[in-house]
Amino acid sequence: SAQTIAFIGLGIMGAPMAGHLVAAGHQVRGHDIAPAGLAQLSAAGGETAGSVAEAVAEADVVITMLPNHPQVEAVVLGEDGVLSHAKPNTLLIDMSTIRPESSQTIARQGAERGIRVLDAPVSGGQAGAVEASLSIMVGGSDDDFASAEAILESLGTTIVHVGPAGAGQVVKAANQLLVAGIIALNAEALLLLESSGLDGRKGMEVLAGGLAGSTVLNRKIDNFANREFSPGFRIDLHDKDMGIVESAARTAGVGLPLAGQVAQLVAAAKAHGLGGHDHSALLALIEDLNGK
Ligand code: NAD
Repeated sequence: SAQTIAFIGLGIMGAPMAGHLVAAGHQVRGHDIAPAGLAQLSAAGGETAGSVAEAVAEADVVITMLPNHPQVEAVVLGEDGVLSHAKPNTLLIDMSTIRPESSQTIARQGAERGIRVLDAPVSGGQAGAVEASLSIMVGGSDDDFASAEAILESLGTTIVHVGPAGAGQVVKAANQLLVAGIIALNAEALLLLESSGLDGRKGMEVLAGGLAGSTVLNRKIDNFANREFSPGFRIDLHDKDMGIVESAARTAGVGLPLAGQVAQLVAAAKAHGLGGHDHSALLALIEDLNGK
C-alpha cells in the first residue's frame, strides 16, 4: 500500500532509489543539501523539502542514504534531525554504509523516542540503484523487517534479514572486504600475465570462465584491460569502508591479516591521488609500485 516516505540523501545512489519509490506509487518527499538530487527527484515526480524536519514531519517511513556515520548521525540524532521531528512509530531505514556501532547507537536512541530503526546497506553499485537490482542486507527486529520488505522490494532483488541492529552493516563490511581484496588479486594476476609478455585480457578471459572467475572480474575486466578508471565506486569511499571493516573486526575481537593489507593498499591508492577513481584503479597503484 502507498506510504508517505521521506528520503534524505539524493546522491549517486539515493536519487535513482527515490525515483523507484515514486514509480511504485508512494508519496516521496526528498531532502539533500546539494541541489542536483532535488532536481532529479522533482523530475521523477517526487516532492522536495528544504529541511530534514519538513521532509520527515508527515512520513510513515524515513530512508537515509548518506556518505558516512557523521552525516547519518547529524541528520538522525542532531537537534533538527529525524528523531526530533518524526512521528512516533515512524520506521527509519538507514541504507548508508556506516560502522555497525553507529547503527546500534541510532537504533537505541530511536527506540527511546518510539522510532523503529533498521540498518539496510546495499551492494550492487550505481547500476544496481538505477536498475533496482540491489542486494540489501538488513539488521533489526523481525517486525520492523516485515514492515520494510515491500518498500525494499522496489529497490532490490536480493533482500535478506541478517540479524539484529548493526548486523546489516557487518555483512556489508564483509562485502567490501571481499570486493577490495578480489580487485587487488585480479590486478596482481593481470600484472603477472602482462609482465610475462602475455595478452592480459585473453588471460583474464579464460580465468573468468574457471574457478577464479567472479562477478568482480566480469564487471571490471574492461576497466582493467583498458586502464579506464572513471567511477563506478570511488577509492575514497572504499577507503572509508575498509575503516569500517577494521572497526567491525576490532569489535568482534578478531584479527584479519589480509584485510589489514588490503586496507593499506586502498589507503595508499588514496594517498597516491587515486581517491576520485574507480576502485579498479588499485591496478594503477600496483603498477606504479612496480615502475610499470
Ligand atoms: P553521494 O556522495 O553521491 O551521495 C550522498 C548524498 O548525501 C549527497 O547528495 C550529499 O549532498 C548528501 N548529504 C550529505 N550530507 C547531508 C546532510 N547533512 N543532509 C542532507 N544531505 C546530505 O554518495 P553515494 O554514492 O550515493 O553513497 C551513499 C552511501 O551508499 C554511502 O554510504 C556509500 O558508501 C554507499 N554505497 C555506495 C555505492 C556506490 O556505488 N556509489 C554502492 C553501495 C553503497
